[in-house]
Amino acid sequence: MESNNQSLLPDEQGFVPDDMKPTLPEQLPSADVSGESEDAEEISPSEDSLEADGSEGTDEDDQSDSAPARAKKEEPVHVVEIAMSHISHRLLEDHAEVTCKVGIFCPQNCNLTGLPVIVTCDNTGEEQLVPINNYNKVDCETDYFIVKTGSELGVYSWTASFACDAEGKLRQHSEVNHTLRFEYWPHTVSMAVWSLPMVYEEERDVTIKVGAVCTNACSLAGRDIKIIDPDNDSVVLATAPLGEELWPGTTALYWTDISFTVPAGVRVHTLSACIDGWSDPDIEEGQPGKEHSACTQAFHIPVIKQADYALDLTFSDCETGEPIEGAEAIVHPYKRISDASGHLVLPVDAGEITLKVFAEGYKDFTKEILLTNNYTMKAEMMKKPVYWPDE
Ligand SMILES: [Zn+2]
Ligand SMILES: [Zn+2]
Repeated sequence: MESNNQSLLPDEQGFVPDDMKPTLPEQLPSADVSGESEDAEEISPSEDSLEADGSEGTDEDDQSDSAPARAKKEEPVHVVEIAMSHISHRLLEDHAEVTCKVGIFCPQNCNLTGLPVIVTCDNTGEEQLVPINNYNKVDCETDYFIVKTGSELGVYSWTASFACDAEGKLRQHSEVNHTLRFEYWPHTVSMAVWSLPMVYEEERDVTIKVGAVCTNACSLAGRDIKIIDPDNDSVVLATAPLGEELWPGTTALYWTDISFTVPAGVRVHTLSACIDGWSDPDIEEGQPGKEHSACTQAFHIPVIKQADYALDLTFSDCETGEPIEGAEAIVHPYKRISDASGHLVLPVDAGEITLKVFAEGYKDFTKEILLTNNYTMKAEMMKKPVYWPDE
């Protein structure tokens, strides 16, 4: 007690007995959790006596238990960073659900898994506890979780806060928070991609269909659709405006055919169909419909190498000579369908190939060809009699 009173130690050294003072300056700057426990063992006898003295109910005891004093005692505090991010969202009848994730980074790369992040809706005050579940030896993350807006349109925000609990072994981490904003307007654009071939030959042109729809069925006619290759500096492979007509049977799906050149590289590529967001100058600021969100829809294309040769095929009816539209020619993995003049060009690789042809109402046929060059064939197909047995 006496020595404590006489010491007049600086605050951060207040818990150390006077006789330890000379060694402290070298030890303190590097003090951390493990260092602290070693120190505690070394100096335990005198520290015990100190605490015993303090527990008599002095002011100093209260101070040493208060948060600021403790933080100083365990310096350096790890100054952590936190970020709450919006992964995706879903509009439901009368509210939106936003899928989020919180990332936490300690510059000392501490494993903070098991500790909670508190996510508070700033609009309603509603709280949820989200555990930190993932740690990759550098930073930590929660799993995906969902926050909900209320039924009213407008701007919602959520604040993710991280604070180690006072008794936790990791309590030397700073408290941090981060706010995520989400604008809940029902005019949100979503996209669809269809009419995709089974396989794509590299560096050949291909045509697919892309459509977009606003949740409130606004006209999207004339808005540009882009096909982007995210793996290649997000180069724009094609742009086409959405047509005036809705896709048959839908109430709001605007669509277009869009052609692009398949990127090189034999593997499954992931491309994106995108539409930019826009702001309607005729609608007042803050009103639903003023803003339409941008939208991106990823799709996968299995790319195969370009075939060596082309089979140029024309199909006609053997009796009438009429061209056969819709005949399907397959040389695995390539497939083409004949146009109105009965014509198609099918890519094929060199060597022995098996060509299979199917056409509705006609007898199927198979032909083996040893291919060493481009090949042209006019095939007369025989009508399948109504009594023709199934093969
Ligand atoms: Zn840390
Ligand atoms: Zn709209």
